[in-house]
Amino acid sequence: MTIAADRPTTTADSPPGPGSGSGRGRRNLLELRPVAAVARSRAYPGVLQWAAIAVFVVIVYQLLVGPQRAHDNLGTALTWVLWWPVIPIVFVLVGRFWCAVCPFGKLSDLVQRLVGVHRPVPGLLRRYGIWIIDAQFIAITWADHVWGIVGSPWGTGILLLLLTTAVVASGAFFQRRTFCRYLCFLGGLSGNYARTGMLALRANQDVCATCTARAVCYNGGEKAPACPLFEFPRTMDSAANCNLCANCIKNCPNDALTLTWQPPTKELWFIRRPVLEHSFLATAIMGIVFIQNITMLGIWTNALDLLERSTGVTSYPVIFTAAFTVAIAVPTLLLALSSRIASPRTGEGTWRTFARYGYALIPLDVAGHIAHNLFHLLAEGKAVVSTAVVAVGGTASPGSPALAPTGTIQVLQYLVLALGVAGSACTAWRIARARQGDTGPTRWAALAPHLTVIAVLFAVNVVLFALPMTHRM
Ligand code: SF4
Ligand code: SF4
Repeated sequence: MTIAADRPTTTADSPPGPGSGSGRGRRNLLELRPVAAVARSRAYPGVLQWAAIAVFVVIVYQLLVGPQRAHDNLGTALTWVLWWPVIPIVFVLVGRFWCAVCPFGKLSDLVQRLVGVHRPVPGLLRRYGIWIIDAQFIAITWADHVWGIVGSPWGTGILLLLLTTAVVASGAFFQRRTFCRYLCFLGGLSGNYARTGMLALRANQDVCATCTARAVCYNGGEKAPACPLFEFPRTMDSAANCNLCANCIKNCPNDALTLTWQPPTKELWFIRRPVLEHSFLATAIMGIVFIQNITMLGIWTNALDLLERSTGVTSYPVIFTAAFTVAIAVPTLLLALSSRIASPRTGEGTWRTFARYGYALIPLDVAGHIAHNLFHLLAEGKAVVSTAVVAVGGTASPGSPALAPTGTIQVLQYLVLALGVAGSACTAWRIARARQGDTGPTRWAALAPHLTVIAVLFAVNVVLFALPMTHRM
């Protein structure tokens, strides 16, 4: 159910309607010469895209023809020990910048240039794209646990090849980066996470109001192609669908674009058109992080034994599917319950309240995701070097793959979680204040159920991160 769909995007010639968004009052980073030089350079982001493609080729080669033990495979180490843990940190720091250099994006551009027929994005995708992304994210996580994709170099290689096929098909048939905007599960995740980010690209509304450049920032021009993610800078008020590719900066004849720092999570405080799919993705990610943690704990094996003995069910896919469903359902139902309790005070129905306050879970989502992946990065990080040594014919030195002791990792995990819960509580409070104004009792009545849910989800994270986890490499 869509409370309010994202701004509609139609054809290359008809950008979305007017909106708001400006970087006024903050230091414009594009006034710094090095930043402006990079943004306006013809080499940006192409050089980085080609570098990413080179690494991607190495990874796929390693995954498909390298050692088939994940422990020894450079492709596995680069993908799951380095890239996957670092990527949520990148989203917080610089929004969807990764999408500007992602090899899939470049591949889509190349296919489009060679054989593209540039059909408009199907209405189905524009309307339900985020639900498709939500479903994909859940399906890939489920498949990983049932078929062991992360633990199998070949499995990871096949996953990347399947995604490559989808990217090629999308680039051949549809306009711009339809795959990245409407189909990529990482794009959906990054859209949510980028809203917590600290970089904001906006257009100066006063300048745009007098512009006669016929939306060259949206349609593309002589200096750079169209906006790959179908965003019209003049109306853009979110980092969710901007990959900082700088096409609009190059094309705008009026230097209307600004790039500014903003406090983390600030964008979440003023979501004008909350979308149920975004909030559902937030609760689903919370559940996914829970299940990722739980299946790495010793108690998971004990729980499996107990379930087998008490129910007679020995099928791992069946047991995991049940646990996975419960893990995703719990945060979703908790938010639905708090929204039901709060709705008489918010003046909105349960699902609209759910959509509005779901954004408050995103900072805790990001924190849980980063904290979980910190374990892989810091407890297994040396595997990147050792597998690279083996890949070039050397001999890896024996020893622990850890970059930091367990105690240090746990302290860092709790620090990240503390930042996340503070960000979530602050966001919920800001949402309540923006919606309920300064009428104290009403605001607190709307806020209290959601703060309780945030506290419960934080407590579950605290307990899970206190327990020892098993290594992947
Ligand atoms: S081309 Fe520049 S001034 Fe014109 S609408 Fe786009 S961002 Fe604004
Ligand atoms: S809004 Fe500008 S920087 Fe962002 S994706 Fe579109 S063209 Fe690139």
